[in-house]
Amino acid sequence: MTSLWTTDAEVPARLRLTPGSRFDTVVVGGGLTGLVTALLLAESGVQVAVVEARRVGAGTTGASTAKISLLQGTRAQQIRRRHSVATLRDYVAANRDGQEWLLRFCAERGVPVQRVAAVTYAQSEADLGQVRAEQKATQEAGLPTEFVTELDVPFPAYGAVRLADQAQVDPMAVLAALAAEVESHAAPIYESTRVRGVHHGSDGDLTVETEHGDLGAGTVVLATGTPILDRGGFFARLTAQRSYLAAFRMNEAFPHDMYISAGQPTRSLRYAPSQDGDLLLVGGNGHAVGRTSEARKKVDDLISWTRTWFPTAEPLQDWSAQDYQPVGQLPYVGPLLPGQDNILLGTGYAKWGMTNGVAAALALAGRITGKLPQWAGALASWRPGELKALPSATIANAEVAQQLTAGWLRVAAHSSDEVPAEGCGTVQRHGLRPTATCTVDGTTTELSAVCPHLYGIVRWNDAERSWDCPLHGSRFAPDGTLLEGPATKSLTPLNMPRTP
Ligand SMILES: Cc1cc2nc3c(=O)[nH]c(=O)nc-3n(C[C@H](O)[C@H](O)[C@H](O)COP(=O)(O)OP(=O)(O)OC[C@H]3O[C@@H](n4cnc5c(N)ncnc54)[C@H](O)[C@@H]3O)c2cc1C
Repeated sequence: MTSLWTTDAEVPARLRLTPGSRFDTVVVGGGLTGLVTALLLAESGVQVAVVEARRVGAGTTGASTAKISLLQGTRAQQIRRRHSVATLRDYVAANRDGQEWLLRFCAERGVPVQRVAAVTYAQSEADLGQVRAEQKATQEAGLPTEFVTELDVPFPAYGAVRLADQAQVDPMAVLAALAAEVESHAAPIYESTRVRGVHHGSDGDLTVETEHGDLGAGTVVLATGTPILDRGGFFARLTAQRSYLAAFRMNEAFPHDMYISAGQPTRSLRYAPSQDGDLLLVGGNGHAVGRTSEARKKVDDLISWTRTWFPTAEPLQDWSAQDYQPVGQLPYVGPLLPGQDNILLGTGYAKWGMTNGVAAALALAGRITGKLPQWAGALASWRPGELKALPSATIANAEVAQQLTAGWLRVAAHSSDEVPAEGCGTVQRHGLRPTATCTVDGTTTELSAVCPHLYGIVRWNDAERSWDCPLHGSRFAPDGTLLEGPATKSLTPLNMPRTP
């Protein structure tokens, strides 16, 4: 499922990695966090390289709704419930710096930006409390939000909180401009190069092990969505959340602000300029990765909701992406392990990474160059108040444990040699071995169903034709190739693919 933004994005040729090269900093991940970090470092004279497993934008950034907003659904009240007003203000200050940096960059590099209001609306009367709470929390944080009783929208809306003059972009246009700027500072971006590990050398240097050879580095920044190294246990403090997006051609006037519902199911709307007129984007129906057997129904439901309220909407394209929800509600930005400043990470943006990712980059680059922003404590990877998040971490991990057990029990109970129909996948026990079998484009493939990260049993995703792990969100193509998540290896093939 290709996103609207990646469909027509230009793919420039890039350098191949030269094994044995050394850089002051190696940034792993060519999404928004990685490229902004690399650019800030390169501008400060740091020798930096970016290593990207697939292509620039292949991760969440290239599939994002890409609202650049300080009103972020109901984030402010969620953060305020756990943290002090001062911490919430620092979070907003970090996001404001991220927003301002990105908008300045877009203005200077000619990347089109649409300035519109952000709106969090109640889709039922029961959700009005959340809208009021969001207004209160955002105002405590110093944002000039207003309560609106009537919205000029066709779908049910019982009141809303609104913040004027926010922004939206084409995220691939942003990444293309960032990548060009990084490369103009003689900082290479190595694509199609997956990092498999980072090792400490005896001289204090780091070795970045990639599938095409090793690189030396003084510092490594993991800008990989969820961190690919398990040291630090961040996988246990994050829940991978997948959601769906669809683009529609419109034959009617439609509202052009950026909307998101306060309650469930989530409905997130914006427009996207195109040569054939403005398109409508609708997102939502999120769930923890690998914990649904009806992914396709979630897309269909989104399309059906849109056609109910916008009868002329013609579905053009749909896609899906995932982001990481932190148990403590605040992003994790800083050292992978407490007190060790040579492996850093940025993650946990809870689907608001267009500002948080840039804020993370400002903090990561600031840490390396000795200019840490004043608000950095609010986004720390190890913060003193971490214990407060322990109950949520326990719940998140109880769910993970339950998924782990349920996966193995399900597979123990199912044993069959039936070949799945086209577009389908099943997990069965073959002897003692959990086996994932799918048929895609006429080819049937058998793989080990055990995720190489922490041994969860993968589940078939019928919307994207992928194998998804319900534990920590690793995802694999039908042939087992690793797509994303904390795993660094693919699923093990069991038999040669069969075609009829
Ligand atoms: C459906 C959806 C809608 C969203 N909408 C919004 C929105 O409207 N506004 C907003 O602010 N935020 C939004 N977000 C969140 C935002 O898009 C993300 O938080 C942000 O893009 C994350 O950027 P990133 O650079 O950290 O990660 P990514 O863009 O995922 O980049 C990580 C990169 O690391 C690479 N990588 C991974 N493992 C390795 C490895 N082993 N070796 C080398 N490279 C590796 C990946 O291929 C990837 O390119 C949304 C998220 C989702 C899922």
